[in-house]
Amino acid sequence: MNCPVCRQPMIVLELDQVEIDHCTTCGGIWLDAGELELLLGDSVEKDGFLASFEADAAGGEKHRRCPICSKKMEKVVCGAEKRVRIDRCRRNDGIWLDEGELEEIVTLSSLGRHNRVLDLLKDMFAKKAQ
Ligand SMILES: [Zn+2]
Ligand SMILES: [Zn+2]
Repeated sequence: MNCPVCRQPMIVLELDQVEIDHCTTCGGIWLDAGELELLLGDSVEKDGFLASFEADAAGGEKHRRCPICSKKMEKVVCGAEKRVRIDRCRRNDGIWLDEGELEEIVTLSSLGRHNRVLDLLKDMFAKKAQ
């Protein structure tokens, strides 16, 4: 699968038994449909957070194309303050997160304390930096 931003082939990483596609060039992450739910795990906050996803009519950022179906993705904002803006395939193939956005999501959604994903991400990027 190629990165929707730089069109380079992405590598597959295993994060808490979920396979994610990661672009080492721009640091973005592609999650197939359902993988974010898996990463966020079991918690009460997860449902509230996932319910906060809302199409962002304002737009502004450049639209990316879905790496699976090649159609333009829609901008979606999420979190209590709608601060994180991500790209989502309109056919629900998955979501695209720019570098740091997955960490932001985990932090903003108050899932950090229940969740191993943040630690795993830190590990992952620490390894990359070495
Ligand atoms: Zn990239
Ligand atoms: Zn798609």
